[in-house]
Amino acid sequence: MHADTYRHRGLRRTLVEELRRKGIRDERVLTALAAVPRHLFFEQAFQQHAYQDKAFPIGQGQTISQPYTVAYQTELLRLQPTDRVLEIGTGSGYQCAVLLQLTPRVYSIEYNAVLFESTRRRLGAFGLPAHLFCGDGSVGLPEHAPFDKILVTAGSPTIPRTLLRQLRVGGALVIPVGDENSQRMMRVVRESAEEFVREEFEEFRFVPLLGQAGWQK
Ligand code: SAM
Repeated sequence: MHADTYRHRGLRRTLVEELRRKGIRDERVLTALAAVPRHLFFEQAFQQHAYQDKAFPIGQGQTISQPYTVAYQTELLRLQPTDRVLEIGTGSGYQCAVLLQLTPRVYSIEYNAVLFESTRRRLGAFGLPAHLFCGDGSVGLPEHAPFDKILVTAGSPTIPRTLLRQLRVGGALVIPVGDENSQRMMRVVRESAEEFVREEFEEFRFVPLLGQAGWQK
């Protein structure tokens, strides 16, 4: 079932009100989440879970992030409509679709080849014009840098320098950093060629960022 019905839109409005109560303030972000049919990023058998504020398994040991987390990270990005943004960890493609509501210039990279293929097909079927790549996003996407914003949607052991170097001056990296059990959300703004300012936010629990600058598995 690939319909976005009146009922689904109502469930999304309720979810958005829940996110507002939990502290999400940016109206553009809330409008973006209200617009994206999250149930279409789920297998049909699990679509009834799509409008709970919960992460959910998407196969390959990975998850679609909780709506609160998607809204929180998107809010921290402070996206402008002309921004070029790189998402690391495409997963189901849901966060990518939310970003596309805010800027048409979205690049997204996924490490898991099976997920990459199914999500590439899904986003293609929806006609969503993201630039999708399969590979190790822990080292960014140097051939397409610089980016105004970089968003990491998996938990990283450190803030990879290689990602900071791919930011435009004035740009920002949003990344959860910590151990395998919990990560602190960080925003690092590139103030000049050599100066970076780091801010710390709430704790979250993400699946691990793998690859060269991530966890070695
Ligand atoms: N943003 C996704 C969504 O909206 O469904 C959720 C992301 S899920 C929490 C984290 C994703 O990061 C997984 O799909 C995982 O395979 C991917 N990942 C882990 N390490 C990665 C890496 N080095 N490069 C790219 N993707 C990676």
